[in-house]
Amino acid sequence: MKIILLGPPGAGKGTIAKALMQHDGSVQISTGDILREAIAAGTELGKQVEAVMAAGDLVTDELIMEIMEQRLQQEDCKQGYLLDGFPRTIPQAEALKALLAKLGEKLDCALELDIPRDVIIDRLTTRRTCTNCGEIYNVKTKPPTVEGVCDVCGSQIVQRDDETEEAIENRLQVYNQLTAPLVAFYRDEGLLVSVPGSDIDSVMEAIRNRI
Ligand code: ADP
Ligand code: ADP
Ligand code: ZN
Repeated sequence: MKIILLGPPGAGKGTIAKALMQHDGSVQISTGDILREAIAAGTELGKQVEAVMAAGDLVTDELIMEIMEQRLQQEDCKQGYLLDGFPRTIPQAEALKALLAKLGEKLDCALELDIPRDVIIDRLTTRRTCTNCGEIYNVKTKPPTVEGVCDVCGSQIVQRDDETEEAIENRLQVYNQLTAPLVAFYRDEGLLVSVPGSDIDSVMEAIRNRI
């Protein structure tokens, strides 16, 4: 399947993408993970985006489209993909539409995870992420077996640099201003499916029913 996961930071996009991936062999493509990997590896791209990301602002549409144009043409995308954190602006959505038309591909849907704001803030402040494989944990709802150690790969689990109170506040504002309009965009495209993102089982159930 080819799905866009829509929803504010902390809505559960990455968690759902990882669950769906095990379901049918589609790959998760997280622009946030790609950028964090570039920062960790100290590449030119990483140096370019580090400060912007730490502040919770968006990387430029041009840079993101350059990354995604390459990524979506890799071999593993043939089985399907789950776009997590992309597109994030109307120009990115328009550019994606043009790119898919060029590649002769169609999206199955844009899945919106609908979550109340207080739940989002709670999830973001308690999220922890593996520095190596990107596995997502939560202090309250999904702690690792051994504190600070990834169950999957044994690497260190940390709180992200953009998970300070200030950066979280900014990211939510950026979402409301630049990303929330995508809901109407995909509704107009006839691709929008909205589900309450309250618990993973009901999200999975809704996906199975509708796709
Ligand atoms: P979250 O899962 O909390 O929504 P992400 O990991 O998707 O966060 O993104 C982290 C940061 O990476 C964003 O705040 C932004 O700086 C950058 N980023 C990720 N995807 C995009 C994108 N499609 N366009 C612009 N910036 C992006
Ligand atoms: P996003 O990719 O949308 O930013 P994540 O998948 O990283 O969101 O989830 C944010 C935090 O909320 C993580 O700590 C994750 O473990 C937790 N989480 C995700 N989905 C749920 C859920 N349905 N119920 C409770 N906690 C959740
Ligand atoms: Zn790991």
